[in-house]
Amino acid sequence: MDFLPIFMNMRGAAALVVGGGDVAVRKARLLREAGCQLTVVAPECHPELAEWVAAGSVLHQVRRFVPADIAGQRLVIAATDDPVVNAEVSAVCMAANIPVNVVDNPRLCSFIMPSIIDRSPVIVAISSSGGLPVLARWLRTQVEALLPAGLARLGRFGQEVRPRIKAAMPDANQRRGFWERLLASPWAEQMMNGDEAQARADFDHALADHAAPPIGAVYLVGGGPGNPDLLTFRALRLMQQADVVLYDNLVAPEIVELTRRDADRIYVGKRASQHTLPQEDINSLLVRLAKEGKRVVRLKGGDAFVFGRGGEELQFLRAHGIPYEVVPGITAALACAAHAGIPLTHRDHAQQLRLVTAHCKDSLDTLDWPALAAPRQTLVFYMGVAALAQIRARLLAAGLPASTPFALVENGSRAEQRVVSGQLRQLAEAAAQHAVQSPALLILGEVAALADELHWFGDAPLRAALPSLSATPTTPTLADAA
Ligand code: SAH
Repeated sequence: MDFLPIFMNMRGAAALVVGGGDVAVRKARLLREAGCQLTVVAPECHPELAEWVAAGSVLHQVRRFVPADIAGQRLVIAATDDPVVNAEVSAVCMAANIPVNVVDNPRLCSFIMPSIIDRSPVIVAISSSGGLPVLARWLRTQVEALLPAGLARLGRFGQEVRPRIKAAMPDANQRRGFWERLLASPWAEQMMNGDEAQARADFDHALADHAAPPIGAVYLVGGGPGNPDLLTFRALRLMQQADVVLYDNLVAPEIVELTRRDADRIYVGKRASQHTLPQEDINSLLVRLAKEGKRVVRLKGGDAFVFGRGGEELQFLRAHGIPYEVVPGITAALACAAHAGIPLTHRDHAQQLRLVTAHCKDSLDTLDWPALAAPRQTLVFYMGVAALAQIRARLLAAGLPASTPFALVENGSRAEQRVVSGQLRQLAEAAAQHAVQSPALLILGEVAALADELHWFGDAPLRAALPSLSATPTTPTLADAA
């Protein structure tokens, strides 16, 4: 962030506007609304300014700006049409550490003004960091359309009852839970736009029987393949209500960013061999947090039930009586296939789809290789990048033709996505040649060849270099099969 968004209490504080034209008066109006003690320095006198002066609410110095004008000011805005004066105001304020804004000149500003929607006490402020103010204004109109008309009424009520709620519920989590339940109920609508007296009575009722102890819960949420657009609405809503989020290595930072600002974010890692937090510790942590009454989001890459250990975590939660909910995510096979232009099934090529994991010798040994080598199916290997030579050797040994098309999709659906395509015989060499890294998914079967024709996202597939036919390893070597 280039700017820190804050809301300053300026009630009774001294503020200075330099300039007396339309723009300056617009800024002065805003400062007055925020309750500033306002001084305007300008040789000219705008009619609106004259009214304020007559009413005694603004001091007008009818002259040009002098550096001494900034003394004692909490905030200064320069809005003259003279760039030299504007620059001087900026320079003296910066030297004195007084926040300064020069209209339409971000370079000279130490703070900038957002586009605002004022439903006081509810205020929405939007900024493009000075980059594209039109965009901020456009966004403001979009957001404004979403906001219920009675928001201010609700906000004022919230301010009014704050001390009562605090007295009834000393715990901040409890207070938040109480408000969230209330805001999600029809009560909010009634308070904003309906019968206020009835809404007040209903509120008193709700406050009187809030006493039930808060029950925590764990939401097992599939975060998808890493592109935030592929989250579900439900995933997003739960992420934005969470008290704590436990996330894995596979969850992209942009997705973690979407969790509630003041939620605790706990990285529990998990790379193929180097587990940051052992599974048992993750399990106990989930239980402990839920027992504290927290809403815990357990955020996983893809879908939690596809090679995601979601089942193990739920069994543990069930054994400890913790309520839970599962939100499906877009698993890597679907996301990678979609973003590589590979239909996983196709009437001409494949009538079944197998999702397989093959990341260590044990998992390789337990797979049914003859079944995997059957015709007219698509194989998708998760976590297979380190074992490509072994996968190829075993498939060839089981009778899958060496000409079977493959596609390796690295970072599927993300901006950095790469696809490497070729024939099974070239698999390990092609991956090495293009330095394919985890996370990558191997799609194998006739459909993989369609990526060359149907790709649409990112770059076209990188083709494996075709070795001369005589040099092609069509039979597995013993070392490969090991
Ligand atoms: N639960 C996850 C899978 C976890 S296993 C899911 O449903 O997608 C981790 C493996 O998933 C990685 O080794 C890789 O093979 C695959 N994977 C996950 N995200 C991926 C992505 N964006 N692109 C390519 N492969 C991905």
